[in-house]
Amino acid sequence: MIREPARSVPVLAAHDIVVLGGGPAGIAAAVAAARQSADVLLVERYGFLGGMGTAGGVTNFAGLYALSHGETRQVVHGVADDLLDRIDRLGGLNAPQQGLQGRITVRSYDVSAYKCAADDLLLSCGAKLLFHALAVDAAIDGDRIAALIVETKSGRRALCAKLFIDCSGDADLSARAGVPFALGDGHGSGLFPTTMFRVGNVDAEKALAAIGEFKAIDRLMDEAARRGAYRFPRAGAVVRPQKNPTEWRVNVTQIRNRDGRAMDGTDAL
Ligand SMILES: Cc1cc2nc3c(=O)[nH]c(=O)nc-3n(C[C@H](O)[C@H](O)[C@H](O)COP(=O)(O)OP(=O)(O)OC[C@H]3O[C@@H](n4cnc5c(N)ncnc54)[C@H](O)[C@@H]3O)c2cc1C
Repeated sequence: MIREPARSVPVLAAHDIVVLGGGPAGIAAAVAAARQSADVLLVERYGFLGGMGTAGGVTNFAGLYALSHGETRQVVHGVADDLLDRIDRLGGLNAPQQGLQGRITVRSYDVSAYKCAADDLLLSCGAKLLFHALAVDAAIDGDRIAALIVETKSGRRALCAKLFIDCSGDADLSARAGVPFALGDGHGSGLFPTTMFRVGNVDAEKALAAIGEFKAIDRLMDEAARRGAYRFPRAGAVVRPQKNPTEWRVNVTQIRNRDGRAMDGTDAL
């Protein structure tokens, strides 16, 4: 063990609200709060917004649409519409793709357009941004969080606020503040993470036929697994065209530990 010397942490700023995490949840929280005239700071460890939607290569919005009375309709609006409009204005949004694989309707987007649109949306509401700041701790005062502690290349800083909203996706602030939480299925496993990847120079017509009625990828994977050629951690692939028609996104991996359980993204060791 090494004992770190106690130190004082400079307060960088004090705000009404500090939002941790610049993914879709953080964007919506910060925009909604700023529109209520709150003084809002959004803190993000990367140098851009979008969360897994940009950093993780998710590249399409699922969950905006639902089957309602036999009709597929967009059911999520509000800040989502403001973001979609801005991505669209930058030429980065596809029309809804329905029934491509399965029943869900998605809208794919260009990652860089999403990043620019999200910056624009946040700043247009008067919210402030602090990028390249990793939240590492919480300073507690009685029964409330007094400050979020961040590490930056310029050093460790405290961010004070009247209210904190944890949109880190991993409940980092809540965990540091000692808020009780549940992880995965409670038995050491949970949702299996995926490493998304994109494929270039795709012939869209052939690819559509391959993933459509013939389910070629699923069938080939199945055959290879039965031959014993490969052991796939998951069956089938979700393959979707992107804004650039020759660029397709593939969701086909599942990352598991040696014992077969889902890898825990909050366990760095
Ligand atoms: C591989 C994969 C495939 C998916 N497929 C789809 C899909 O096709 N369509 C779809 O709509 N959804 C999909 N999802 C789900 C979707 O990505 C999530 O629902 C969504 O990203 C959740 O948003 P969020 O804002 O809660 O969290 P996140 O998007 O995870 O954002 C959290 C943000 O907080 C930041 N952060 C975290 N910890 C800290 C810290 N300590 N300090 C500073 N910043 C921090 C992160 O950098 C990130 O920007 C997929 C997710 C993954 C991972």
